[in-house]
Amino acid sequence: MIDFTDKVVLITGGGSGLGRAAALAIAKQGAKLVLVDMNKEALEESKTEILEAAQNAAVELVEANVTNEEEVQKYVQFTVDTFGKIDGFFNNAGIEGKQNLTEDYGSDEFQKVISVNLNGVFYGMKYVLKVMKKQGYGSIVNTASVGGIRGVGNQSGYAASKHGVVGLTRNSGIEYGQYGISINAIAPGAIMTPMVEGSLKQMAGDNWEAAGQEFVSVNPMKRFGKPEEVGNLVAFLLSDSSRFINATVVNIDGGQSYK
Ligand code: NAD
Repeated sequence: MIDFTDKVVLITGGGSGLGRAAALAIAKQGAKLVLVDMNKEALEESKTEILEAAQNAAVELVEANVTNEEEVQKYVQFTVDTFGKIDGFFNNAGIEGKQNLTEDYGSDEFQKVISVNLNGVFYGMKYVLKVMKKQGYGSIVNTASVGGIRGVGNQSGYAASKHGVVGLTRNSGIEYGQYGISINAIAPGAIMTPMVEGSLKQMAGDNWEAAGQEFVSVNPMKRFGKPEEVGNLVAFLLSDSSRFINATVVNIDGGQSYK
């Protein structure tokens, strides 16, 4: 039974895609939420959707950049000051970066992707763990990717960052299990979010929907995942129903990784 009554959940990348979907799933089960994103308008849209779905939800918005350690420290403190604790943390904001062969992959692009997807996740864990250790409980879900557990090609920065997220997850999971804290990663395959829609449009222009169908024709389920399917998984992993799952990576990819 997934119940977030009186629980406080912090979500980064809460303005779009997987972050918004998780926020919706968790808000419907009664949680108080702090959503962080660098896109203010997207945050406002998330809040509107959440309040339509869960009228009494308590939702605070913070415009911030996960690559800025001081800002991370501030929104973690804001969550504690506002709601008194942090039960769950969906450490999720990320970018894809431009695709290219390794030899042509821009060094600036590499640093940029690492900075958001890996440094951002590290800063988030660092400050949230200080709070959760004092509490003696908590759950963290870091967003990795299929590209964090196997090679996908043309994505040096993304693959390195997401493999790094898996490493951070396993390392910290075994450190903090003793304090009643579980830390896991999710490895989504292709989920139809604005990020994926954007890269399909970049590749195929007006033919992006057909290109998308072609792309998922190799998936055992022959379709994209839905954001709400990932949102439900995150809700489970952040809930009290999954407390003994720790330091692991949960694939949500229609079986693609084992094909
Ligand atoms: P999305 O682009 O729809 O949402 C990402 C959100 O993160 C956006 O609202 C964006 O403004 C925010 N963001 C980006 N950089 C930020 C920063 N520096 N500071 C604060 N906010 C920032 O993408 P999504 O598909 O929902 O992706 C969410 C996570 O899931 C990412 O980590 C992504 O790598 C991962 N992922 C997505 C897929 C997929 O198929 N959609 C697959 C595997 C992994």
